[in-house]
Amino acid sequence: MKVLKVDHIGIAVKNLDETLKFYTEALGLELHGTETVEEQKVKVAFLPVGDTEVELLESTSPEGPIARFIEKKGEGIQHIAFKVENIEEAIEHMKEKGFRMIDEKPRYGAGGAKIAFMHPKSSHGVLVELSERED
Ligand code: ZN
Repeated sequence: MKVLKVDHIGIAVKNLDETLKFYTEALGLELHGTETVEEQKVKVAFLPVGDTEVELLESTSPEGPIARFIEKKGEGIQHIAFKVENIEEAIEHMKEKGFRMIDEKPRYGAGGAKIAFMHPKSSHGVLVELSERED
């Protein structure tokens, strides 16, 4: 299995519109659109930075994973996504090596990507997302 790059950094925020001011006005990044992923109860804003991307995540429901994250830890970095060549192969690789996956089968994430989360206990406290998608 091969990691190609940091695909994106997922940041949990309470309010997208308020947070976007910082990323667009202070950092001068460009908003390249938003998407609601119903399955994840999340609204995502995409802000490309060079070869990678910042993804701001706002929960669409108080029961969603992002709402629960903010409740426990406050706003901040929620996950790091690595782009892999082949998601099925990457999941098999992790399982073979004894690393725990949250998703044992890929599912669809924002931007039409096939994604799978690893268990943070296997990745030393960082929620790691493996992601396969076209550029
Ligand atoms: Zn992500």
